[in-house]
Amino acid sequence: MAYDRENSNFIRNIIIDDLESKKHDSIITRFPPEPNGYLHIGHAKSICLNFGLAREFGGRVNMRFDDTNPVKEDVEYIESIKNDVRWLGFDWNELHFASDYFDEMYSRAVLLIKKGLAYVDDLTAEEMKEYRGTLTEPGKDSPYRNRTVEENLDLFERMKNGEFEDGAKVLRAKIDMASPNINLRDPAIYRISHSTHHNTGDKWCIYPMYTFAHPLEDAIEGITHSICTVEFEAQRPFYDWVVKECEMPKVPRQIEFARLNMTNTVMSKRKLKLLVDNGITDGWDDPRMPTVSGLRRRGYTPEAIRNFCAEIGVSKADSVVDSQMLDFFLREDLQPKSPLAMAVINPLKLVITNYPEGESEEIEIENHAKNEEMGKRMVSFSGTLYVERDDFMEVPAKKYHRLYPGNEVRLKGGYYVKCNDIIKDENGEVTEIHCTYDPATKSGSGFEGRKVKATIHWVDANNCRPAEFRLYEPLILDNDPENEGKHFLDQINENSLIIKNGFVEKTGTEGIKPGERLQFIRNGFFCLDTKYSRQDNLVFNRIVPLKSSFKIAK
Ligand code: ATP
Ligand code: MG
Repeated sequence: MAYDRENSNFIRNIIIDDLESKKHDSIITRFPPEPNGYLHIGHAKSICLNFGLAREFGGRVNMRFDDTNPVKEDVEYIESIKNDVRWLGFDWNELHFASDYFDEMYSRAVLLIKKGLAYVDDLTAEEMKEYRGTLTEPGKDSPYRNRTVEENLDLFERMKNGEFEDGAKVLRAKIDMASPNINLRDPAIYRISHSTHHNTGDKWCIYPMYTFAHPLEDAIEGITHSICTVEFEAQRPFYDWVVKECEMPKVPRQIEFARLNMTNTVMSKRKLKLLVDNGITDGWDDPRMPTVSGLRRRGYTPEAIRNFCAEIGVSKADSVVDSQMLDFFLREDLQPKSPLAMAVINPLKLVITNYPEGESEEIEIENHAKNEEMGKRMVSFSGTLYVERDDFMEVPAKKYHRLYPGNEVRLKGGYYVKCNDIIKDENGEVTEIHCTYDPATKSGSGFEGRKVKATIHWVDANNCRPAEFRLYEPLILDNDPENEGKHFLDQINENSLIIKNGFVEKTGTEGIKPGERLQFIRNGFFCLDTKYSRQDNLVFNRIVPLKSSFKIAK
């Protein structure tokens, strides 16, 4: 079978080569998060790649928690990660924990010792650093490097049995202290840590180092293509060394690609945790977070995220993607499928002085501007409405065609109204505008008398629901928040969350459930918040405005 190499990328091409040359009958990839935080949009890129390739080539994909580093909170993170991967639209063939392989890893380490390829070292961390050398100078051998196999076997076993303090000894691979690749200068492969592990409890007090464990995990599972980010490129020789010298029957191939970076954001679980721990955000799923759970709560769709990941592609070159590109895919996905409704975010009362007192009517409005199949709905209308405060100007600016004294506009789906009077409070702030309407101008009545230049949306003040609107800007102001010694915590945007209290129409929001999305005419796409919304106090997150308005800070 010939595969299409157009619109491909270098990793996909390697897989095609391996299938065509019959190096592999089918592929197995994996997604191996460390459960030390929630997934972010960078992980989504890796998920789309690994799960996407397995799906395309009829292969398999494993979900593997890289839990070689024992920490307490693991369990919450594990559940969130599984949930996020499924929400993105993927499912795994096998679910594994790296910690399930601790026995095998231990015996492979013993094998290395027996082959004279690993030794127990007593140097302190400080000394070890000194002995390592630099990029330009070779390292020097540790005085413990020539311990006998018997001595090493004995010490390693006693390490395992808990005879030594944390940090007193490490097991190191015996490769070459003069290697030009610092990663091959006898890297540590096991360390002592008397801590409780979420999966293995207190069974172990020695834990394998990530760079030793990872290739073994891949090999044990028969992963064919182990896809990781570019910072592991210099580790690849050690990866290959571990697989070979540990005599793993199946040989995975490590391939590196560039990690996703985005403007106005930080993208590491460790840094995102700082935002959470410092109370800067409302948890990991704060709608301003670049986490999958934050994007979900904000109202982003899995389709938009997948389309974005497909568009940014896969390469080796580091780059920073404009966060507005994700918004582009979001609008493209939301536009055709979000029903329209009317909401007034920043309300100003509009009284129609000639509308029959105490009366009301229902006005027919389409549920989507382009998609007739979505039908129409009846929206309550009366003589007292709310309109947006910025749809009125007492002294109109140039080219301002909306409401101002003496001007006439169309109310969406309804009548022409003309502003005659304004009411102000003691501070001079406009509290009401008084208009008259022309019954002959009703939308759909075929009226052709005169034209107006603006249509504004509204909500019936006598028959609506109060709502809270949460408007977002990027959490971090700077495009490159960590450049030139800056710290991202100093670049937090004070206006990243603005809360407004307004009103929504009843019909268009009837029965809406948390997590559901709609388009509020002229105000953007919104999602009913899953955390704070109540039936008597609707809370809407603005997913994205209809057009991009945020100017990236220079
Ligand atoms: P973090 O610094 O956020 O903890 P990590 O690289 O330590 O990231 P892991 O949870 O260990 O993340 O990795 C899971 C997988 O996701 C790895 O294969 C990693 O390469 C990939 N990954 C992590 N961040 C990104 C990113 N920004 N772009 C693409 N892939 C990423
Ligand atoms: Mg990490």
